[in-house]
Amino acid sequence: MSQLFSDWSDFIALLPYEKILYVYKNVGAISDYEEVAYAFKGTPMWKYGDLILTNKRLFHLEYRYEIKKISRKEKLRSLISFVLSLMTFLGYPIIFIYFITSWPPNCTFALLTIVLFIVSILILSAIKVSENKPVGYRRIIFQLPLKRITDIREKSGWLLIDVKYRRKPVLLGFPGSSKKYGMIEKIYVDRDKMRKFIKNISTLIYEVQEYPRETIQYKVVVEFKIDRNGAISVKCPYCGASAPLQSKESTVKCPYCGKQYIIPQKILQLLK
Ligand SMILES: [Zn+2]
Repeated sequence: MSQLFSDWSDFIALLPYEKILYVYKNVGAISDYEEVAYAFKGTPMWKYGDLILTNKRLFHLEYRYEIKKISRKEKLRSLISFVLSLMTFLGYPIIFIYFITSWPPNCTFALLTIVLFIVSILILSAIKVSENKPVGYRRIIFQLPLKRITDIREKSGWLLIDVKYRRKPVLLGFPGSSKKYGMIEKIYVDRDKMRKFIKNISTLIYEVQEYPRETIQYKVVVEFKIDRNGAISVKCPYCGASAPLQSKESTVKCPYCGKQYIIPQKILQLLK
């Protein structure tokens, strides 16, 4: 099991006999009614955090991040990227106008622009923006009793969980590797992680919904008689009727009321 941040118990109180079985790190969740509707229109607003599966419930705890201090290097980075974008939007038209107005063109000016551009990009790639790492939890995004989950399905890389008494499903996103195309970042779905989660939760839902623990209680015989011939008769703890003990089986069905009761080993040992 992956490690939870220590403040998890500030948000979750486990029920009697409830145990945390699986933790999935960095899972996106959308639970709010309106945000689910927005997500279907194409703008998912994921809240990232830990997905926690117990034998009774499914939780999502949103991450809390440390407030970041912006370093001098990062300030420099944002300044350079601002200049670069300015150059892209204003610089090229200026260069273009310059070229057509002063023919033959001044090569040193063009060369200088290109060198400046390359140097800026090199500086940009050298300065890494420090990653924002979670340090704890902020709030519960949802907590669902497994008993109420009616369906789990995959749709365009998301996982949709239908829950009884909820008009819209809860959405889950399992982000995996990512690739950067300039400013645009494409995040791939971690299908392996998602399938493992589906497998685990399906088993637990089955156990909760289809296989409720049977609680059968038997009463134990406390009164019995041995006659002269050594025959034993026991008194039914439910109705009080006496019945002869014929076999060495520990559970006996009363011939009068039909209920099952238990014969203690000590009485069974007296049978010859
Ligand atoms: Zn009986």
